[in-house]
Amino acid sequence: MPELPEVETIARGVDKRVRGDRIVEVWFSRHPQPFKTPRARQARELAGRKILSVHRTGKHIVCELSSSNAKPGADDATAQWIVHLGMTGRLLVTTPESPVAPHTHARLTLASGRELRFVDPRRFGRLEFRDLRHGAAFGAPGDEPLTIGPDQFAALFCGRRLYIKAALLNQTLLAGVGNIYADESLFHAGIRPRRRANRVTRDELDRLRLALREILTHAIRLGGSSVSDYVGADGERGFFQLEHCVYLRTGEPCRRCKTPIQRIVVAGRGTHFCPKCQR
Ligand SMILES: [Zn+2]
Repeated sequence: MPELPEVETIARGVDKRVRGDRIVEVWFSRHPQPFKTPRARQARELAGRKILSVHRTGKHIVCELSSSNAKPGADDATAQWIVHLGMTGRLLVTTPESPVAPHTHARLTLASGRELRFVDPRRFGRLEFRDLRHGAAFGAPGDEPLTIGPDQFAALFCGRRLYIKAALLNQTLLAGVGNIYADESLFHAGIRPRRRANRVTRDELDRLRLALREILTHAIRLGGSSVSDYVGADGERGFFQLEHCVYLRTGEPCRRCKTPIQRIVVAGRGTHFCPKCQR
């Protein structure tokens, strides 16, 4: 499952390669699953539009599009193409002659000659088209962990009795925080995953916000150097592995105090923590 830093890295890589390019032709597979907006409508709507920018919102990749008949220089987004990678989705920028991978569901031919391809073996990914003249822009339900301020962050957990780990994973509170970054940020903030959110002190929440932001930013920075592996013609995944402190390190010594890392299940997810460093 791609996590926030991975999606951010992909969005930046795709943006670098297709910003300003125009969609001239659209091909979609016949599988119904990936198409949140009906396939025929997406194909009709996308053709002719210019890609103004590509960015991440939550764990979604959002392509801002101009009208197909926009005058040159008129760069107001009037539509969006939203790509959710699901479990196994990939968004690739390729040359037209590069072999089409199995499970390719979308091929957008661009005026530059490049192709934007969506590949997804397990088909949990979703492709959606939004006309901004007749509806709202895409927004993730939760707040952005990279930009949220300390007061707003603390307010998210105020009065909530659920476990702090479950609260971090709740996408309606924070957008795009997955299991790895929840475990790692709780370790860095020294908070046990099963503390009740409303019992975590303001000082601890301040530490948690900074830890989360630092870890995500670090991961994005590392990922930036492997962007070409992601969206390159061969479509090979090449994402870095972070040096995790607790995630998937059950029984191994804590990097800080040497106590064996423990694993429990919180909110149905494997959860890793140091019983000594986290209180
Ligand atoms: Zn420890």
